Amino acid sequence: MSTKGKRFVSLPVLAVFSLIIFVYYTSVFVFLHDWLGLQSSPGSLNAFLLTLLASLTLFSFFSCVLTDPGHVPSSYAPDVEFSKYNSEQKKCDKCFAYKPPRTHHCRVCRRCILKMDHHCLWINNCVGYWNYKAFFVFVLYATVASIYSTVIFISCLLQKDWDSIKGSSLKIFCILYGTMVVGLTMTLSTFFGWHVYLTLHNMTTIEYYEGNRAKWLAMKSGQSYRHPFNIGAYKNITLILGPNMLKWLCPTAVSHLKDGVSFPALRDNS
Ligand SMILES: [Zn+2]
Ligand SMILES: [Zn+2]
Repeated sequence: MSTKGKRFVSLPVLAVFSLIIFVYYTSVFVFLHDWLGLQSSPGSLNAFLLTLLASLTLFSFFSCVLTDPGHVPSSYAPDVEFSKYNSEQKKCDKCFAYKPPRTHHCRVCRRCILKMDHHCLWINNCVGYWNYKAFFVFVLYATVASIYSTVIFISCLLQKDWDSIKGSSLKIFCILYGTMVVGLTMTLSTFFGWHVYLTLHNMTTIEYYEGNRAKWLAMKSGQSYRHPFNIGAYKNITLILGPNMLKWLCPTAVSHLKDGVSFPALRDNS
């Protein structure tokens, strides 16, 4: 099995995969079936839309798992500009190689990752320069799919005649499933909102925390700090999702990505 393929052999990855399939199956074949019926036009239209969303969620999930998050080219050597934007250590003390700006060493992957965001247990991979778009789009699709599943679940509950239902197993299942799907929707929405914030500011999760520290240090010495890679909300979005808006939602449309070792920055604010 290839190194990439081995990333699938992980309990959390299999758990995410099973969860997507479970929520999709339950939404379509239990609640939508019960609410509108799969033979009716509104029923089949909803089933089609949810199938499309679930497929896109799975596709972007696989892209996140399989895409290399970004390794430092062996020929990399820092240029003169380097020290201006990166005050931290220039060399990785574990890889013994130069670190480009925004690169961090991941202890789980045991190597340096370009524009590292965080190591994600659920994809058994780092989120970095090459797979951040796939990750962002995955969280977006998963959030929309989860909200959609919650709407179908609640709509089904509202039209059900509960008094005529004998036995409690269906009720228990609905309570457990409802808690799970509502909890999932809230978690995903918050997480997606967080990454929208980071994208609008062209920040990685690591840089957000580093920036807080830098802001505090700057404030103490009476100066102001601005994240050097924040070059305006729209430009920040195009750097991550691409210049063509029609390709923003395609996790594999990443031809706009470059080598990941240099980034446009606010030159006069260092
Ligand atoms: Zn390293
Ligand atoms: Zn990692």
